[in-house]
Amino acid sequence: MDDKLKEVKSLIKKTDRIVFLGGAGVSTASGIPDFRSPQGLYNIKNKYGVSYETMLSHSYFYSHTKEFYEFYWETMLNPHAKPNLAHIALANFEKNGGIIDILTQNIDGLHQDAGSKRVTELHGSTRRYRCEACDAAYSLENIKIKKGIPCCECGNVLKPDVVLYEEPLEETVIDRAERALKRGDVLIVGGTSLNVYPAASLIYEFEGRLTILINKESTPLDCFFDYVIKEDIGKALGLLLN
Ligand code: NAD
Repeated sequence: MDDKLKEVKSLIKKTDRIVFLGGAGVSTASGIPDFRSPQGLYNIKNKYGVSYETMLSHSYFYSHTKEFYEFYWETMLNPHAKPNLAHIALANFEKNGGIIDILTQNIDGLHQDAGSKRVTELHGSTRRYRCEACDAAYSLENIKIKKGIPCCECGNVLKPDVVLYEEPLEETVIDRAERALKRGDVLIVGGTSLNVYPAASLIYEFEGRLTILINKESTPLDCFFDYVIKEDIGKALGLLLN
């Protein structure tokens, strides 16, 4: 283990209450591309003639529902993805008696698949769908898709229960995340470019004693952290938490 990881590991105690804030980089080893890495989705030209931010926006969802869903089924849903070493290290820490709150920007449900119980999905989940007309809720397995578009029994189009660009985060979700951050002793942030707000600014709510960033690339908020570890998240979490 390299010296920096050894030093950080010695600072994390079993009794600590850990808060983990993660992003798309947590799931890349499960075969789900992130957005902003060199191999990320944003660096691949798309066929729709608009940026990915536009395609994943509230207004595009309503103005181009067919194109939105064509792109969404192709790109945002990864039904065969399995938890990787990062998800498993976090889940094992909890299974072994540690307290760890996971605040994820991911929408893939893989932390729950790994067995983590205290997961806050800041940006929702591709496993849930909602009708904005009658408020009916559906799971991915229960939706009926007509010509590529999931429809509610009331006849309206269903929306994935994910936070699109131009949409605010749910207040109850932000409250839960802020409470976890205020109670935590150690903050580990990883697999995120810390470019998406307000998720990135949640780090300022942390009041504990130690902050660690694990990311392959630099972020605009590196200076906030006591330790910055440029390493694969699965490998680093495996070494730090086991
Ligand atoms: P991002 O694409 O902006 O940044 C990902 C970061 O992770 C990059 O800085 C990259 O260097 C780093 N990274 C990639 N693989 C890594 C690894 N194995 N180890 C360590 N670091 C690694 O992602 P973001 O900050 O999460 O913001 C993108 C938004 O898009 C978020 O809202 C996210 O939920 C969403 N998104 C989700 C998924 C998913 O659910 N799996 C996938 C793509 C995008």
